[in-house]
Amino acid sequence: MSAFVIDAFEYSRHKERREGDIAVADLNRLAQESADRSGVLHWVLVGGTDSLGHPQLTMSVTGAIKIMCQRCLTPFAFDIDAESVLVLAKDEESADEIDALLDNDEIDVIVGTKSLNIIELIEDEALLALPLSPKHPVCPDQSALEGLKASKKESPFAMLKSLKN
Ligand SMILES: [Zn+2]
Repeated sequence: MSAFVIDAFEYSRHKERREGDIAVADLNRLAQESADRSGVLHWVLVGGTDSLGHPQLTMSVTGAIKIMCQRCLTPFAFDIDAESVLVLAKDEESADEIDALLDNDEIDVIVGTKSLNIIELIEDEALLALPLSPKHPVCPDQSALEGLKASKKESPFAMLKSLKN
């Protein structure tokens, strides 16, 4: 896992960019929120500086995760498409100063470290993207559900067909 630990300040200074894929099942806190631990997330971490010269990291996470609908209690695929800008401060005191200076709710100021765990950043980003009370935009009705159960072993396309019929 050491490949996933970075010096946040060096990473920003060198404007490094890394990306990769990680299974939902490998992210314990996220897996607990998911219906079946399936799915893979793609992440991109880019280092740089903000307009005022503060070191910053931009973390993007995309992918689908199965979560339970709170209305009909069946799992559905939720698309995660999240991006956060994290400005790095040396300590809590300067974090507060930078936060007040930027005065921007869209930007998080965190205390940077020489051993920042990318996995935790990815997981935090994904967790923040999840709805508090997940629901289908439109819940499948019972007959469609029965159709899904009956055609479980068929291909996804066959399932689509049975939904249409
Ligand atoms: Zn539902």
